[in-house]
Amino acid sequence: MLTVKTPEEAAEIIHGRFPVGEVPVEQVAMGDALGRVLAEDILAEEYVPGFDRSTVDGYAVIASDTFGCSDSLPAVLTLSGEILMGAAASVSLTPGSCAAVSTGGDLPEGADAVVMLEHTEDYGDGLIGILSPAAPGKNMIFKGDDVSPGDRALKAGTVVSPHDIGILSALGRCVVSVRRKVVVGVISTGDELVDPSQTPGRGQIRDVNTPMLAAAVESFGASVKSYGIFRDDEELIRKAVLKAADECGIVLISGGSSAGMRDLTARIIESEGEILLHGIAMKPGKPTIVGAIGDKPVFGLPGHPVAAYFVTELFVRPLIARLMRAEVKRRTTIARISEAVSSNHGRAEYMPVFLDEEGTARPIRGKSGLISCLAGADGYICIPRDSEGLAAGAVVEVTHF
Ligand code: AMP
Ligand code: MG
Repeated sequence: MLTVKTPEEAAEIIHGRFPVGEVPVEQVAMGDALGRVLAEDILAEEYVPGFDRSTVDGYAVIASDTFGCSDSLPAVLTLSGEILMGAAASVSLTPGSCAAVSTGGDLPEGADAVVMLEHTEDYGDGLIGILSPAAPGKNMIFKGDDVSPGDRALKAGTVVSPHDIGILSALGRCVVSVRRKVVVGVISTGDELVDPSQTPGRGQIRDVNTPMLAAAVESFGASVKSYGIFRDDEELIRKAVLKAADECGIVLISGGSSAGMRDLTARIIESEGEILLHGIAMKPGKPTIVGAIGDKPVFGLPGHPVAAYFVTELFVRPLIARLMRAEVKRRTTIARISEAVSSNHGRAEYMPVFLDEEGTARPIRGKSGLISCLAGADGYICIPRDSEGLAAGAVVEVTHF
């Protein structure tokens, strides 16, 4: 018999049973940090930028020299030199003078603004006409505008993104400490499954879950150990599950998670450990098992790929993040739904949607076995357990994958 929990209860049970212990830390090169969880706050030790810089091509000036000038009444300044990229400004400005500077160039002593090239005219003989006044600070960034020593540039727990790598490189942090990846073991079960490289015979299907869940888990920042396909043979699966529980931090077993005679996952988890819950009041994904073998979380996922995916997204992903002390950021969009959706009393329904050009959420309908309904989905909406259904045009929150 299933002892069904709501999704909220399921999340709480998982949270309560698998506390975060010590999370080992390792050092990686900046270039390998993408997607990893920072184990340290990244504090700036220097000013970025390290000097006042121009943001345009033009002339560094003393702002007050340009006040009141215009197209018809240019301020005429003497050119005291050119600042070369990559070099410290070798000139300093005195009233009535200016210096040529490129975007990103160092600003000379005395300069407090830059006039864009487009607003100037070169009269030759070292005379530059300024056609438009510049307020102090115009077209420049100041030393430390980005970060100053002691500023926290990145927080521990951040999942490193490409622009975070940009920050690390600006700060010269070529090696950073990150959390060691949780290893997730993936086991697929079913007499009907063949490897994706094979042509299935009648009655057979290709194993979708092993590659899909492996990819999902990797995209969540964990590393994956795929154990392959196992026939519905209790002893074979048991051996694989015990091996995975020994070698991995989390185990996912897809297929055979219902409460029928031929469903072996519950029997195996129960005899080797404990079952924390069997059944989640959600659609798809009801026949889900959460258990433990020793202190390792073991999930019995429904074989239906879409169901397996949703359970992994909703329950395994936060657990992976928590076990690595990562911050989970789920991006959501508020949208109107394109069509009415009937209610599903008693079960929270997770429905893949895509956002069309107008930003309307369009449900992708499909039986949970059909993986094609996830292709093209931007994310999903949740229709709560106690909802009366949604009318066309109702406001929904789309959670992006
Ligand atoms: P089960 O949960 O074992 O009852 O399987 C439910 C449905 O999902 C059945 O139609 C299975 O054939 C299918 N299924 C189970 N495992 C996989 C898999 N790894 N890849 C694709 N479909 C699967
Ligand atoms: Mg099966």
